[in-house]
Amino acid sequence: MVQKKNKKYVYSFEEGDKSMKEILGGKGANLAEMKSLGINVPPGFTISTETCKTYYDSGKKILPEIYSQIETKLKDLEKKIGKKLGDSEDPLLVSVRSGAAASMPGMMDTILNLGLNDKSVVGLANKTGNERFAWDSYRRLIQMFGDVVLEVDHDKFEHILESVKESVGAKFDTDLNAEDLKTIVKKYKEMIKKEIKKDFPEDPKEQLDLAIKAVFNSWNNYRAVRYREINNIKGLIGTAVNIQAMVFGNLGESSGTGVCFTRNPSTGEAKFYGEYLMNAQGEDVVAGIRTPLAVSTLKTKNPKIYKELVDVCNRVEKHYKDMQDMEFTIQEGVLYILQARNGKRTVSAGVKIAVDMVKEKLITKEQAVLRIEPNQLNQLLHKQFDPIALNKAEAVAQGLPASPGAAVGEIVFSAQEALEKANKGLDVILVRTETSPEDIDGMHSAKGILTSRGGMTSHAAVVARGMGTCCVAGCGDMVIDEKSKTLIFKSKGLKFKAGDIISLDGSTGKVYSQKINTQEPELSGNFGKLMSWADEFRKIGVRTNADTPKDAKTARKFGAEGIGLCRTEHMFFDGNRIKAVREMILSNDLESRKKALAKLLPFQKEDFVGLFHEMDGFPVTVRYLDPPLHEFLPTKEKDIVELAKEMKVSVEVLKNKIDDLHEFNPMLGHRGCRLAITFPEIYDMQTNAIIEAAILVGQKCPICGKKHKVTPEIMIPLVATTKEFSILKQRIVEIVDQKIKEAKIKMDYKIGTMIEVPRATMVADKIVEAGAQFFSFGTNDLTQMGAGISRDDAGKFLKEYVAQEIYEYDPFESLDQEGIGELIKIAIKKGKTAKKDLKIGICGEHGGEPKTVEFCHNEGFSYVSCSPFRVPIARLAAAQAAIKSKKK
Ligand code: PEP
Ligand code: MG
Repeated sequence: MVQKKNKKYVYSFEEGDKSMKEILGGKGANLAEMKSLGINVPPGFTISTETCKTYYDSGKKILPEIYSQIETKLKDLEKKIGKKLGDSEDPLLVSVRSGAAASMPGMMDTILNLGLNDKSVVGLANKTGNERFAWDSYRRLIQMFGDVVLEVDHDKFEHILESVKESVGAKFDTDLNAEDLKTIVKKYKEMIKKEIKKDFPEDPKEQLDLAIKAVFNSWNNYRAVRYREINNIKGLIGTAVNIQAMVFGNLGESSGTGVCFTRNPSTGEAKFYGEYLMNAQGEDVVAGIRTPLAVSTLKTKNPKIYKELVDVCNRVEKHYKDMQDMEFTIQEGVLYILQARNGKRTVSAGVKIAVDMVKEKLITKEQAVLRIEPNQLNQLLHKQFDPIALNKAEAVAQGLPASPGAAVGEIVFSAQEALEKANKGLDVILVRTETSPEDIDGMHSAKGILTSRGGMTSHAAVVARGMGTCCVAGCGDMVIDEKSKTLIFKSKGLKFKAGDIISLDGSTGKVYSQKINTQEPELSGNFGKLMSWADEFRKIGVRTNADTPKDAKTARKFGAEGIGLCRTEHMFFDGNRIKAVREMILSNDLESRKKALAKLLPFQKEDFVGLFHEMDGFPVTVRYLDPPLHEFLPTKEKDIVELAKEMKVSVEVLKNKIDDLHEFNPMLGHRGCRLAITFPEIYDMQTNAIIEAAILVGQKCPICGKKHKVTPEIMIPLVATTKEFSILKQRIVEIVDQKIKEAKIKMDYKIGTMIEVPRATMVADKIVEAGAQFFSFGTNDLTQMGAGISRDDAGKFLKEYVAQEIYEYDPFESLDQEGIGELIKIAIKKGKTAKKDLKIGICGEHGGEPKTVEFCHNEGFSYVSCSPFRVPIARLAAAQAAIKSKKK
């Protein structure tokens, strides 16, 4: 048995405060805090979240000890109010509401007006002199209680309500008189009896008991479980239950109810904002039967209440030092606050509020920086759907949110088609089973990319994030038939053809079957201000993964301090280059290979010049060719025939070559530095291109004429053994030193390695002793090889792994700190033993993920590197990590 003797399970509002969220839930803790501020909160008590846990642990039972604590608090409450629960002359009515430590709005259950029965309703009518009000409250209780506690279908109540309204000619609920409401109550009760073979419970204590259990049960209803899943709410033990004396906004024209925010939640404007209705209960405001009025109108209608409300808002906001969302009720001219919590807001409002509050000296810069969830910045950096239009749209399928943003366009099924249509000025969505490097031009031209296979580090996801293009990957519900140019969403049974319009939300992974309007991002002054504060606190550098001058420029705009990863293979696909690459691959001897590589050199050099120019002195890390060569050759018969013609070889020769290059496990095959061990001339060409480019821009940049200071950082991929590194390094050094000597200049350069093969982490010290001047952790491959999960096939099963909490997060998205993180720590320790000031970076996709950035900060990394659009996220996350570690 979990329950302990004398343990406290029930707290009056006077016994709590805001620090007790874990025990009292957010709502309970805030009600207690407001009480302590002297704000007029209707009295009540909170049954703790621990009680919810014991309820489940004891097989859904409330233990006698807890019952007796509830009984005591109920008596205290009755004494305070001077009324008894369910009294036949002057009844105390209570609300029973859920409230967990994390806010889960509307996901769990609530019961209002509890304590009414056939006798107390008469007492309430007499006492208030308002028979209609009493019977309306009773009608609402039976309906809510019947639905939530007795689990009678909600529609059955609505049906009775509607039929009575029709029979008496009432248009709105408010047109029903007391007699009509009595009829409804009678019919409700008969219907309940028929449905559950039991009477609606008249005993108020029984009502209370059942309502408390219903709230506990709602902790695990489908809605609540899904909400926690979607919002990554973990580690909570249950919901608290708040029992509070009812106050009524529907007691006549001097009563009312409303909701207000201390600042505008959409824009962040520092102006009191909200809505209310007179002579109404909370649900009327939500139901939209009558149009609520702006709170500003209270100023003339009821200046006393308005002043009080503004005063409470100011006090509560100053106290919590954050924008508050409050519910209030006016009962016969007396203002009550029913709830105050940190208000939900749009990201741009959040940024403005944080910046304004620093100006107002309400919070510090550190607090402002800590207040914004880094991933939310996505919403400010990419195109988004118009929220109103999005609300009305229904998704037809769900994939992985691989690259944020919103995209609308015509479906195309090939990269070629994407390019052609985009050239004609059309917006297209490229739909593929998966993408390959050959698709790069089409991907560039598309507004969005949708794939049916692949995970968060699949080719489509990585490339799209790099380009800042919206991408939904691994949409397993989608079947593509490229021949007939159709796609089917299986669950919905919907078929689309080329040219049909769809919309993608890369931030949620949702696919829509219609056009949804989009909005441009706005990088306002407040955003810039907040980022500049973040940079003041940040201790580690933030670089970018960029392969083109265009991406490099974008990244600089977002504040990147260098390039941490330039994947040179991405430079091989453009226009004429692919031809030279293929020529190189098809060459049968060294001479012809060198000839083909010589054609590539000027292109590579030009790209490096572009990158050095954009980075204007910031470091540029160039990663040498990594993918297996077969990725550069076509796979489809039609393309093979075409290429054979172009290359002037027979189809047979080409097919033989393709067969030759075929690998059973290409990710573990002939790729990375293994390519250069067998074909060293490939890396030779890359070394020549980098150094020639560096010398050129160091003397006079062909783009701007300036002298850029360049320190090239050459990075060798997929190193597993010391020997691989030393052999390749020696060859690179010879070429570089020769070039520098010939140019008669001085230039620093560095040669380092990616650490992405688990073996390398174990021999990291020896790799440094062999001359590695820096490490950059390639956590995509390190995760793939360390956890033994294929990057490209993970989409099929990883979702389930995360759902079952086998992995807390997708390990390709957020670093698996427990496993892969340990390998990294070992490598750092060994590497730093060999060279104390070894420079350490990360360039896997994790480099822009906030939890991983915090890990990198804590482990003493020099920098993180991520795709351009994630640079601000990494900057903010790095600042937050620094502030948090200072606090410890
Ligand atoms: C990695 O493996 O983490 C990495 C950055 O390299 P790539 O994704 O190109 O394999
Ligand atoms: Mg890699």
